[in-house]
Amino acid sequence: MQPIVIGTATASPGETARGVIPAGRDFDGQIEIPVIVVRGARDGAVLWIDGATHGDEAEGSITCWNLAKEVDANGLAGTLVLVPILNLAAAKNGSRGNPLDHVNYDLNRVYPGKPNGRGTERLAWAYYQEFAPKADIIISLHSGGSVAYMSRVIYHNDIPASLELAKAFGVGWDLIVEPAYSVDRRPATGTIEAVSGANGKPALVVELGGLSESLPDKLLQNCRYLTDGCVNLMRYLEMLPGKVERRGDIRGNKSTLRRRDHRNADNTLRRSAGRPLCLLR
Ligand SMILES: [Zn+2]
Repeated sequence: MQPIVIGTATASPGETARGVIPAGRDFDGQIEIPVIVVRGARDGAVLWIDGATHGDEAEGSITCWNLAKEVDANGLAGTLVLVPILNLAAAKNGSRGNPLDHVNYDLNRVYPGKPNGRGTERLAWAYYQEFAPKADIIISLHSGGSVAYMSRVIYHNDIPASLELAKAFGVGWDLIVEPAYSVDRRPATGTIEAVSGANGKPALVVELGGLSESLPDKLLQNCRYLTDGCVNLMRYLEMLPGKVERRGDIRGNKSTLRRRDHRNADNTLRRSAGRPLCLLR
């Protein structure tokens, strides 16, 4: 097995390495994306997990740090790449986007970005250059940020394996939303899950929590749920040993059966206009 190189981090089998993905220069110096690379002792998938695409969503950052502490490289098959603070300029400001970029404010709408674009587009481009060829699976962790509280929801992309991965996130993660979730059924574009799907890679956007400044205890509890979900997924992928709490087909799950009682006969949630909003699996 060879070492894996992500940005400036080089991790040999059985090692955890830290570094940065260089993302160009700003007025006051280099723009960098911090990265933690846990290279397992055995071969396996490259699972890539990021947080703070939106800078007011601390849940993904804390979950990445939890995983860095809890996943031992020597007990891992494959590689776990953790990006705790993807959008550092936004996170420093506690805002959804980089406050200096008023035009392309939302990082998860501009992928794959542009090498000579505005700040957020250049960040997306530098990040895309690293994850697109190297990640087998992308998990992007989100929440309602400073404006809303989100219960558990997972968006998958149009690669069939992504639906199975969403189902394997664990007990309680029953609301799984198909990729073409816009009201008029257009596929989403510019998102990390969409560009990954275009490259044939499964990707999930996982949402839980928000309003963390006023709900600090809830924040830590939700990060535990997110961390456990990622661990369950790694067990499903046989990256980690241990019992998988839920895998693949969720038929027979009690909470799902209860939820099924409340949905329409054709399994879709509908807005008042009658258009399907999403399909419950
Ligand atoms: Zn978000």
